[in-house]
Amino acid sequence: MTWQGLPIDEANALPVDELLPLLRDRLDAPGEEPDSATDQAERLLADELASHLQVVVDLGIGHLDLGRSSTSISSGELQRLRVASSVRSGLFGVVYVLDEPSAGLHPRDTESLLAALRGLVEAGNTVLIVEHDMALVQACDWVVDVGPGAGINGGEVLYSGPTSGLNAVDGSITARYVNAPVHPGDIRNDQPREASGEALINGITAHTVQDVSVTIPLGLVSVITGISGSGKSTLLNGIGEGIEAATFTGNGQTQRTVSINQRPIGRTPRSNLATYTGLFDHVRKLFTKTPLAKERGYNAGRFSFNVASGRCPTCQGEGSVAIELLFLPGTYSTCPDCEGSRYNDETLEVRWNDRTIADVLSLTVDDAIPVFKDEQPVARALAALQTLGLGYLRLGQPATELSGGEAQRIKLATELQTERRAPTLYLLDEPTSGLHPADVHRLLAQLHRLADAGHTVVMVEHDEAALSTADWQIEMGPGAGKRGGQIVRSEPGANSPELYS
Ligand SMILES: [Zn+2]
Repeated sequence: MTWQGLPIDEANALPVDELLPLLRDRLDAPGEEPDSATDQAERLLADELASHLQVVVDLGIGHLDLGRSSTSISSGELQRLRVASSVRSGLFGVVYVLDEPSAGLHPRDTESLLAALRGLVEAGNTVLIVEHDMALVQACDWVVDVGPGAGINGGEVLYSGPTSGLNAVDGSITARYVNAPVHPGDIRNDQPREASGEALINGITAHTVQDVSVTIPLGLVSVITGISGSGKSTLLNGIGEGIEAATFTGNGQTQRTVSINQRPIGRTPRSNLATYTGLFDHVRKLFTKTPLAKERGYNAGRFSFNVASGRCPTCQGEGSVAIELLFLPGTYSTCPDCEGSRYNDETLEVRWNDRTIADVLSLTVDDAIPVFKDEQPVARALAALQTLGLGYLRLGQPATELSGGEAQRIKLATELQTERRAPTLYLLDEPTSGLHPADVHRLLAQLHRLADAGHTVVMVEHDEAALSTADWQIEMGPGAGKRGGQIVRSEPGANSPELYS
């Protein structure tokens, strides 16, 4: 049984981009038995399907094939897929709530997303989105600005009203970025950087990328851009895997490769900010030097919630106990014995500068900075975290409570706290996703500092500030899915007019 020469499994494996022209062809051509009941039914179905799939293509997700498992679809793609089905549903009186529908969307496709959301509103629905993309924010009718800062410094509604009124709100960081052009000078110095050499990586082959060669300028910040599904992340992974076998020219080289991704820094409450960055090792040493710890012979292990001697026996140092639920995913609740402090009473009798080890873990990065100002290794780690806009996080904040973006910035801060001499290649996949523009600028400034110190940075990005400050741009394309996977442009950056072409 075939349709347009395809059995169902092959049709199901086609990306939407390729299925749509087949449907259109069928509608344009007379059928084998024109005007028969079968022909009419087929036309009706093809027409309906084509107009549905057109919305999917318009929203920049036409590279997805019909049989693609929903678990391998990114969150931005999934949200846009939901928008696509809603647009055609004909429902009205519905409130749609979307969390960053633009995540991973090329600026070229922002217009289509806006048009689809507008369509929902015009049909009599209400759309509420959480968004950092200032182009989308500007196009909204109403804005709710939450702040003023992040974490414990946030949580207040600063403004709720028509978008035009946001500019007049005192203390709104968002207001500064709406309608404000990017000033590259805020992010990097305007001196053009000279590449110290090049790394040529041959034969990158994975998914839709077939035998592609790429040249990475060393000592520069390079951005890989291109429409959704064009193979950007695949190229980035290929660079990471191929760098050791690369051909180096010039004086440049790389001795280490560090991939800074959004994967969690740990999967249980046992890993946290303090343990991951290594600053907790220094803090525990400070506690062993107190008179009471010396008298009792406590070593650094005593102050670890991963070692039996010092931790609370009930929760085994987790501070929380897992609750298994029958029909829902398990959850955690505060330990009834230590009340979340993680330690036993004897350990908590030891105080350093009047604070217990549990008190230290409950400090935010911002509050810990004056406390540890004379302890160099701790102070350096804290300063790196604060620079990346993470001052609101608690030192003991469990890995399970951190977003992907926070995890990524903690990894970057961990790299930044030590001056690396060995020339390093840093690979980042959409580091700005989910960040407020103020934090985007801070993050980019740090990445440019790495290049100033002689390291090489390669990132996949759509963000305008990232593109306009990059030394080098690599664009993937020309299309998405099977029609992508090639490098269509590789050239110096700096506000290229064809950026969004
Ligand atoms: Zn406990």
